[in-house]
Amino acid sequence: MTTCRLKPCIQLPLSKEKLRESIDKAKDWTLMHGMSMRPMKNYNKDRVQLLPFTLIPSSFPEKPFFIVKSVQVLLNELIHKVAYDNEFLTNSLKSTIQADPFTAKLFHIYEIVRKEGFSQNISLGLLRSDYLLHDDGCKIKQVEINTIAASFAALATITSQYHKYILSELGHTKEICEQIPENNAITGFCNGLIHAWELYDNTEAIILFIVEDVSYNISDQRFHEFQIRQLCPKIKIIRRSLTSLTSEEVKLGPNKELIVANMIVAVVYYRSGYELEAYPTEKEWDIRLLIERSRAIKCPSVQYHLAGTKKVQQSLVQCCVLKKFLKDETSVDKIQEIFTGLYTLDFNKDGEKAVEMGINKPNKFVLKPQREGGGNNIYNEEIKTWLSSMRDSPNRTAWILMDRIYPPLQKNYLIRAVEEPSLKDDFDLSEVISELGVYGVIIGDSNNIILNKEVGHVLRTKFSSEDEGGIVAGIGALDSPYLIS
Ligand code: ADP
Ligand code: MG
Repeated sequence: MTTCRLKPCIQLPLSKEKLRESIDKAKDWTLMHGMSMRPMKNYNKDRVQLLPFTLIPSSFPEKPFFIVKSVQVLLNELIHKVAYDNEFLTNSLKSTIQADPFTAKLFHIYEIVRKEGFSQNISLGLLRSDYLLHDDGCKIKQVEINTIAASFAALATITSQYHKYILSELGHTKEICEQIPENNAITGFCNGLIHAWELYDNTEAIILFIVEDVSYNISDQRFHEFQIRQLCPKIKIIRRSLTSLTSEEVKLGPNKELIVANMIVAVVYYRSGYELEAYPTEKEWDIRLLIERSRAIKCPSVQYHLAGTKKVQQSLVQCCVLKKFLKDETSVDKIQEIFTGLYTLDFNKDGEKAVEMGINKPNKFVLKPQREGGGNNIYNEEIKTWLSSMRDSPNRTAWILMDRIYPPLQKNYLIRAVEEPSLKDDFDLSEVISELGVYGVIIGDSNNIILNKEVGHVLRTKFSSEDEGGIVAGIGALDSPYLIS
């Protein structure tokens, strides 16, 4: 367990008076600059409310920060190569698709389009690799990599600006503010979308955002749209949900163009579609298949989506696998360094060993299904119960076991909209842990990598008592790193 803690960037606690004034300013600044979401309770399209955020930036050791920043282009390349390696994807997911219906559906679509021949060879990846500091905070370990609907590029950019504002408001000098690193993730992501749109080479074509029926995280999504309009005014963007698209509205043209509402789609950007709930009937799966069959550039393509599964992440940790995908020893070592132990639960010797490990030392592991979006993992004593009950069931292979990472603690104020069911008062100093996300953009096809960049970061902070902390769900908070040596 963690005993290590990081020092806050300024002297805490703040006096009651200073705190009251700061929170007041902070709430107005963040709300007026768009750090907002639609209310979960009493949803109303005419309203947004504060997204939870930390009053001050959380401390983050600079060495691991720069390590993972520099590793991002290698991870982008790795995901790209994995996605385009049919043999590796197939072998990695073989047992998973026997047990997990969602991955099986995706894999089925992949098989169909692969056998037909991909109409569009280019994929666009807007990725986010997530990390926790480990032990004393000198080490950093990857939690997962997101290849679909990686969120908060826009709001993270604003959060970094907010934290510079609040520190200077609290009377701290320019040097202190400079410890908050530059962050322009939103421009990085939007340039990726624009680059893909240009590669499609049809000035009339549009970008289609696939969104949820109800988007709570609306501001983050809309900022992408608004930024693209600003950077490249001629691109039109439309938003549709998988459930709202009808077979009349969406079709394939004579050259496999994706046509939606009589417009050709150059790029499809999924901000939804990563969970089973986005596909309530076969119709939504049919639409996903139709999109995959089309010439539109997909973010992500189905093979990128599959490359982001927890099972593929686990397969990559196996000895010698990285060597297959990366050019040199140094790159392999760099990536190996950020990986932690991930274990198969397949019905073989390794799988049996992992079941035993999980049951004997549940606090040392996290049990994960092939799901995205938070709230799906199993922790602590429950691991014992789940593993014992799954031991002889084929369902077991839908899961993986991962070493639990115990990040250092620190103190911060978590600020939230008053309507939220407050676990704690805004004015209470909370014990928190932070998860760093690094954003990457990659565009490529089966032969070439056309664009490969690291474009920014986000810090998400939660109460240390919580195993997981969704920001939109109100448990986690948007944050930015304050670099310490
Ligand atoms: P999801 O796809 O649902 O986001 P993650 O793998 O990111 O799944 O897990 C969700 C959350 O669970 C993470 O944000 C992190 O807080 C926690 N978590 C996941 N893996 C670990 C781990 N190995 N050690 C400690 N916490 C973890
Ligand atoms: Mg995650």
